[in-house]
Amino acid sequence: MRLVFVGPPGAGKGTQAQFICERFSIPQISTGDMLRAAKAEGSLAPELVATMAAGGLVPDEAVVALIEVRTVREDCATGFLLDGFPRTVPQAVALEAMLSKQGSKLDVVLALEVHKDLLIERAVLRRTDKRTGRIYHLKYNPPPADAVLEHRGDDHEDVVKKRVETYEAMTAELLPYYAALGLLRRVDGVGLVEQVKARVFEALGV
Ligand code: ADP
Ligand code: AMP
Repeated sequence: MRLVFVGPPGAGKGTQAQFICERFSIPQISTGDMLRAAKAEGSLAPELVATMAAGGLVPDEAVVALIEVRTVREDCATGFLLDGFPRTVPQAVALEAMLSKQGSKLDVVLALEVHKDLLIERAVLRRTDKRTGRIYHLKYNPPPADAVLEHRGDDHEDVVKKRVETYEAMTAELLPYYAALGLLRRVDGVGLVEQVKARVFEALGV
């Protein structure tokens, strides 16, 4: 199963990706997580750190290089879920070329759809448990008392608004691109986590 998960920031991709990856025994590959890890170890170029902090997109070459190295690792032999990549058509074209060189191709592109007002609330109140990587929400999915909570630097209202705008501008052409290839399946991301999970699994035919 080679799957691309598309959706605006805060739509619930990370939350649902955990279920999908468990079901198909595939790794979740998030370019956002990889960039944050590089930043934490001090190996991310300062201009990319600034771009991320402002809610913009880092250059295509930077994320394509990350994906190129990650998708040839052994745990990707039976597939993978790409979360937050590609975000632009040039990234999608690079991915297609990369896979075709490896003799494989994408199976499905899942688009998780949530309207703007909900996205801000979901992202601003998002917290991650540093120890487990689990995603929580202060209102909808409160963390356990012993969680060591992290609040992402770009999960503040002004930056989230900018990230949503960036998503809309840059990905407006990405969805039609995948629709034209017959790969796109849209899923309504509004509702309880379990309800959305059921829709996601239905869209994947499981
Ligand atoms: P993304 O990976 O798309 O940015 P996340 O999966 O991290 O989104 O979810 C963003 C926030 O919304 C998190 O705090 C998460 O707990 C919460 N969340 C996810 N799905 C739902 C849902 N169906 N209803 C309410 N809150 C949700
Ligand atoms: P995310 O965790 O997916 O919300 O990504 C966090 C930030 O990392 C984004 O706001 C971008 O600055 C950067 N980023 C992650 N993935 C990509 C990508 N595919 N293309 C460009 N920038 C990205």
